[in-house]
Amino acid sequence: MGIQIFLGLLACCCLTFVNADLEGYKIYDITPCNAFEQHILEDMDRIKGYDFLHRPRALNVSSRVMVGPKDQNDIESTLTKLAVNFTIFNDDVSKSINRERIQNGKVRSLSRGISFTNFQRFDQINAYLDELAVRYPDRVKVENVGKSYEGRQLKTITISNGDRRPNKNVIWIDGGIHAREWIAPAAVLYVIQQLAENFQVNKDILTRYDFVILPVVNPDGYEYTHTRERMWRKTRRPTAFGCPGTDGNRNFDFHWGEVGVSNSACDETFKGQKAFSEPETQIVRDQLLKLKGRAKFYLAIHAFGNYILYPWAWTTAPSPNAASLAEVANAGAYAIQAATGTRYTVGQPSKVFYAAAGGVDDWAYGVAGIPICITMELPGAGSTGFDPFPQHILPIVSETWIGIKAMIQKVISKF
Ligand SMILES: [Zn+2]
Repeated sequence: MGIQIFLGLLACCCLTFVNADLEGYKIYDITPCNAFEQHILEDMDRIKGYDFLHRPRALNVSSRVMVGPKDQNDIESTLTKLAVNFTIFNDDVSKSINRERIQNGKVRSLSRGISFTNFQRFDQINAYLDELAVRYPDRVKVENVGKSYEGRQLKTITISNGDRRPNKNVIWIDGGIHAREWIAPAAVLYVIQQLAENFQVNKDILTRYDFVILPVVNPDGYEYTHTRERMWRKTRRPTAFGCPGTDGNRNFDFHWGEVGVSNSACDETFKGQKAFSEPETQIVRDQLLKLKGRAKFYLAIHAFGNYILYPWAWTTAPSPNAASLAEVANAGAYAIQAATGTRYTVGQPSKVFYAAAGGVDDWAYGVAGIPICITMELPGAGSTGFDPFPQHILPIVSETWIGIKAMIQKVISKF
């Protein structure tokens, strides 16, 4: 039986969509060893009901897919028949997520400061930003920059050395455009903590640059992963096609929809009904345009996969200053490897795995004119890849900061 027909039959059996409780869901690790197996995985990526937590990227790189009970016989027999090696990474996702919930709920939130022994809820994150503005009024400013579809207040925090120079260069950092990547807002919060509360150590950076930081781009999705569906990725705005939510990182108006996106609202990489259809992507767009000319470094934090990526994502053609981008990205990767041994792959997404259009980084580079734009995919951890155990949060975010700091220093040496 031809692979297309085989996978076609498989697709018919797999019209279920990942449900809220994930009871009995399994996660499979599949590593393609040749082009044929890679092709099988890419075809599977298009099947509804197969939630690729880590999409097929390259030969000999494992991908991770979550599948519900009804579809497990199909995927296992397909992989077995086609002689593709796989392992079961997690044999009951709901159990591990329930354990995570209990563990996360055990840690009482602090009355002051921020904790890296559990994941914070959106209100706690905003409260921390407001607290810093009160504690450091000369150096920290918090601004309400717009509301999410469900009415949550997005806040940016601007951290400076207090010199109030109007045309000072700026570094923008954001996280959490993909809801389930909890380690991303945590890593951004760690950067905020270091810059605001560890000012003496980081004074030199702040003498040269101001920081504008948005720790949770997609708070509706983020809260939804805390209260309903742990593996939700997109925004929460309804679409005309039944399934709610758009992939914010496919929704920016630069070669929008051309490659690596889905036109189906039920898919995880749905590009949106139009470019900038989401209030959250509009907010990022407007804030970056306000910083046009001043912003020299755009950094987006994601998870997972250990990548430091730079434009272009939509094409394999090199960007105009690809050498500088590579230099900054490599500085981050080298610093992390030297500090902890963690390895990152550096490059254009379109070259190191696949092309995708409508991402924030390509838009920030191509339209907002920010010369250094980087997307960092942090390491996977825990029972799904998206849920580092409490004791792993601080090691991951502190090693990430080492890489970010090295990239900042490289940017400062250039601009
Ligand atoms: Zn992501």
